[in-house]
Amino acid sequence: MTTEPDLFTEPAPAIDVDRAAEWCRELWWDEPLTAADLPSERDRNVLITAADGRAAVLKISNAAERAAVVDLELAAMHHLASVDPELPIPRTLATRTGSATATVVGADEREHLARLITVVPGTALQGRSVGPELARQIGAIGARTSVGLQGLQHSASGRSHDWDIRQVSSLLARGPAGLSDDDRQLVQAVVARVRQTAEQTWRLPSGIQHADVTLTNVLADDAGIVTGLVDFGDIQFTATVCDLAVSLTSVLRSVAHASPEALRSTAAAFLEGYTRIRPLDGAEAVAIADLVLARLAVTVLVSARRAPRHPDNADYITQYDDASWSLLRQLSIIDPADLTHSLARMAGASVPRSGSAAALRDRRAHVLGGPLAPLSYAEPLEFVAGEGPWLIAADGRRYLDGYNNVPVVGHANPVVAQAISQQARRLNTNTRYLHETIVALAERITATLPDGLDTCVFVNSGTEANDLAWRLATHYTGGSGGIVAEWAYHGISAGTVDFSSNEWPPGHSPGHVGTFRAPHLDTPDAAPVGRADALQRVEHAALGLNDRSHRPALLMVDPQFTSEGILDASPEYMSGLVDGAHAAGALFLADEVQSGFGRSGAHLWRFASLGLVPDLVTLGKPMGNGHPIAALITRREIADAFTQQYEFFSTFGGNPVSCAAAMAVLDVLQDNQIPQQAPIVGEHLRSELRGLAVQHPVIHAVRGTGLIAGVELRRADPSASRPFARAVMEGLRERGTLIGTTGPGGNVLKIRPPLVWTTEHADLLVRMLADVLTDLTG
Ligand code: PMP
Repeated sequence: MTTEPDLFTEPAPAIDVDRAAEWCRELWWDEPLTAADLPSERDRNVLITAADGRAAVLKISNAAERAAVVDLELAAMHHLASVDPELPIPRTLATRTGSATATVVGADEREHLARLITVVPGTALQGRSVGPELARQIGAIGARTSVGLQGLQHSASGRSHDWDIRQVSSLLARGPAGLSDDDRQLVQAVVARVRQTAEQTWRLPSGIQHADVTLTNVLADDAGIVTGLVDFGDIQFTATVCDLAVSLTSVLRSVAHASPEALRSTAAAFLEGYTRIRPLDGAEAVAIADLVLARLAVTVLVSARRAPRHPDNADYITQYDDASWSLLRQLSIIDPADLTHSLARMAGASVPRSGSAAALRDRRAHVLGGPLAPLSYAEPLEFVAGEGPWLIAADGRRYLDGYNNVPVVGHANPVVAQAISQQARRLNTNTRYLHETIVALAERITATLPDGLDTCVFVNSGTEANDLAWRLATHYTGGSGGIVAEWAYHGISAGTVDFSSNEWPPGHSPGHVGTFRAPHLDTPDAAPVGRADALQRVEHAALGLNDRSHRPALLMVDPQFTSEGILDASPEYMSGLVDGAHAAGALFLADEVQSGFGRSGAHLWRFASLGLVPDLVTLGKPMGNGHPIAALITRREIADAFTQQYEFFSTFGGNPVSCAAAMAVLDVLQDNQIPQQAPIVGEHLRSELRGLAVQHPVIHAVRGTGLIAGVELRRADPSASRPFARAVMEGLRERGTLIGTTGPGGNVLKIRPPLVWTTEHADLLVRMLADVLTDLTG
C-alpha cells in the first residue's frame, strides 16, 4: 500500500480561470471560450464553455497528485466506458496531439496535470434530502460502478488516503486533534467498536473502487432521476463493501436530522437498490453497520485535523460535520447487534440469532401447537446448515444424513440454490403467463415417462398432487371409491388423509376407501407375493367398496411401500395391482413422491423399473431438493374429462422459481450421474447390512431397491421391537447419524439418504449401527 503525499496540506493549484481557458484553447479547443470556477477540495476544476454552448470541465490536479494516480483515474473511466457504456460518467477528451493529459504550470511555478472531461448533466445531490427513491438509485449506481470496475487492475490502485475507512484506527492514532472531550470519547468508542470489522474487510470481495459515490459526486435532474457520477479522485483498491459504506453514509447524512423512521427507510431503499445489482455475501452484509460508523469517524477526524490548518477552506472542510456528528450519536446509541442485523437484513442477508435450544423448544411448542408439530428425537436437534450428505447442528456437530430423501442432490446444493436465487431475483409470477421454464420442465419430465403420459400439472406438495389425481379419477371414471394399501401414506388434505391408512385412528375406516395387503413376506427368503395374490387383494377391496355403494375410481400406491416398512414388490405383484384396478373400473396411480427422482435407479421412477404403465403419476418431495414443487402427470383424455367441468389454477404451482429449482435438480442428477450411482451405493449398503445381520440376529430382514434400505428388527417379545427400533435410532443419533423408523409395527429402520451418498457414507452408517446394536443387545 502506498501512502499518498498529503494532498490536503498541499494547496489547490494556483491557477485563475482565465489562464485555464487559455490552456484549453491551446491544448484542446482552439476557439473563444469562457471559464468559470467549480468547487473542488484539492484540485482546480474549471467549467469551460464554447460559444456554441458546448461545455467541458478542465480538471487541473493538485501538484502533489502522482501522475500514476491520475492515470488510474483515466484508466477507470476508460474501463467503465467500455464495459458499461450506458453508465453516465464523464468521458476524457484527448488533446489535439492525442494525449489524455497535459502538464500546465501554475503561478507558483508548480506543475500540474490537466485533463478535459465531458460535462455530465444534472446537479450534485449534496444539500438535498434524499428520499427512498433517490436512495435506491444512488445504491444502484454505486453497485453498477463497483461491478463495472471489478475487471480493472492498475499498479497505482494500492494507494491509501485519509478517507480510507480501513485506516480509521491509524487516523485516530495520529491524534483526535481539536475535539472536545465528549466528542473524542465518542470517536474513540466508535473506533474501538469497528476496528475488528475494518480489519476483517481484508478478507472480503475487493477491487478497485470509486470510493466516493457520495451526494457530492452523484448528479440528478430536477425530477429526482440520477443522471451521473463524477470525480474519480478517491479511487483506490479496497473492499467493495467499504465503497458501499462510503455511499450509504453520505445518503444517511442527508436525513440525519429527520426521524429514525426516515433513516431506516432511506437505508433500506439504498441497500435494495444496491443489492438488486450486486448481491452481498453474508460477511459483507454484517460489516455494513460498523463500516458506516467507521466512515463517520473518519469524516469527523479528517475534518477536525484539517479545518484548523486551512482556515480559508474551513467551510468546505467542515461541511459534513454537523450531519456526521448527529448521525454518529444516533447510530452509536442503538444496540450494536441490532444495528448490524438491521442493515444486514436490509442487504438481503439473514443473520441467524442464536439462543438456547431449550428456550427455542418452548417457544416452538407454544406457537406451533405442541403435538401438532412433533419433533424427531427425545432431545430435538437444531440444524443451522447442510452440506451434501451432512447436516450441521447449532453446536457445530456434523451429522450424517441417512434419513432425508428430499435433498436428493444433497443439502444446500449450490446449483439448486443458485437457480432459485437467480430466478427469484429476475421474476416470479403465477402460471397464467407464458414462461419458458415451466414448459421446458414439463417437456423434460414427460420425456422420461411412458408414451401417453403427456399432460403435466404443477402443484406445491405431494398431497396436492394426489388430491388432484383423486378429483381427476372420479371425474374420468364416474366412480367414488379409492383403493390403497393397508398402511399407506398419501397426504394430509381432507381428501388424501382418507387414503393415508397409516394415519387412521383406531376403528376409523372411511367408507369410500378400500385397502389391500401390501406384499409383506413372513420370512426374508419366502417367495415374492405374485400377480394372483395382487389381483385377488384388489378385487376384494373393490367388492368391499361396491358393498358400500362405491364404484372404484382410483388405486393409489407408493411402489416402494415406504410407510409399509419398505417392501420390494415383484413386477408380477405390481402388474396385478394395475390390472386389478382396471378390472374394477379404477385408474392406477403410481405415487412416486417417495421413490421418484432416481432413488431406484437410472430410469428415475420406481414404477418404470417394475415395468408398469400407470394412468397417473405423482411427484413431489425431492423434486425441488426442498423447494416446494410437486406434479401430477396423466393422459390428456383424463385431464379433459375434468376440465369440461372445472377450471384449474394453483397460485404457486409451477411458478418460475419452483420450476427453476426442479430443472436444476434434474440437471444435477444428470450431470453427476446420480441415479446411476445410487443403486450401487444402495446395493453395497444392503449387502453390508446383511453381513451385520449374521452377528446380530435382531436384524430380521434387509430390504430396499436403489438407495433405500429397510432394516426390520425383531425382538423375541414382539412388543419390544418398536421401542428397540426407536432406541437404535436414538443411539445412531448420539453417534452422529440420522435415520428413521417405519412400518406398521414401527420396527423397520428407514435408511433413505440424500442420493449423494457414496459407499464411504454407507460404511460409516453400518459401523455405527454395529456399535449401537452391540450396546443395546449387550
Ligand atoms: N405420498 C407419499 C408416498 C409420501 O411419502 C408423501 C409424504 N411423505 C406424500 C404423498 C405427501 O407429500 P407432501 O408431504 O408433500 O404433501
